[in-house]
Amino acid sequence: MPYQQLTDLKDKPLVVVLTGAGISAESGIPTFRDANGLWEGHNVMEVATPEGFAKNPELVLRFYNDRRAGAAKCQPNEGHIALTRLEEKYNVVVITQNVDDLHERAGSSHVLHLHGELRKVRSTAYPDLIYDYEDRPINIGDLCERGAQLRPHIVWFGESVPEYTNAELIVQNADYVIVVGTSMVVYPAAGLVDEVSDGAPIYVVNPEMPNLYGSQNYIRVPEKATVGVPRVVDELLAK
Ligand code: NAD
Repeated sequence: MPYQQLTDLKDKPLVVVLTGAGISAESGIPTFRDANGLWEGHNVMEVATPEGFAKNPELVLRFYNDRRAGAAKCQPNEGHIALTRLEEKYNVVVITQNVDDLHERAGSSHVLHLHGELRKVRSTAYPDLIYDYEDRPINIGDLCERGAQLRPHIVWFGESVPEYTNAELIVQNADYVIVVGTSMVVYPAAGLVDEVSDGAPIYVVNPEMPNLYGSQNYIRVPEKATVGVPRVVDELLAK
């Protein structure tokens, strides 16, 4: 959702939900920090950096093809689904680090992907040429309409995060914030909580509570997403 559209939505309070890999863990999509920094057996520097892609494009395409096919078989869980109930009473924007589409499939109306999307591919030479590949694999030799190789539409480590400024503006307007399933160590995404205005409650749902810095109004919910998110949603709907 562009910030401009958001400013038109003054009719209801705004809940901003910041999600990370942990919200999809109970749907069967593993987080990689919980696996000692290995992502499905790979060092992230091999499969999630521009250098890794330059060195071994076949490996990187196969890695994301497997992730895309795997995510397509998973279903949204009670955490993703509970967030959609908030839309009865609030304007809700989900800002996710996840590259799966489980928030959309659960029914969330406004989802901003900070780190890209598995279902999308883009040109290696013309970044604005983005295509929906749905569940299909990308192969060496799959080209954009201008003849350049396609790559996953993923923000790799070391690349800029084009949606970050938009995300900052949205967070600055939040009346309530829910942070679910993120270790809050991947920057710049982790810096978004610093943008929350003074006093706005920040619910943090995570069975292993991350380090929380600053003087913000944190409310700790040390639960898995399927338990903690419905609880927070019920609390906000009762306000
Ligand atoms: P991360 O650093 O955000 O760590 C995962 C967090 O989830 C941890 O704090 C852990 O305690 C928490 N967690 C684990 N199980 C949980 C549960 N059931 N409920 C709530 N919280 C739970 O994430 P990461 O795995 O290190 O991934 C970093 C980046 O890699 C992401 O930002 C994303 O871009 C990409 N990634 C995406 C997916 C996905 O799209 N589903 C999966 C893995 C990695």
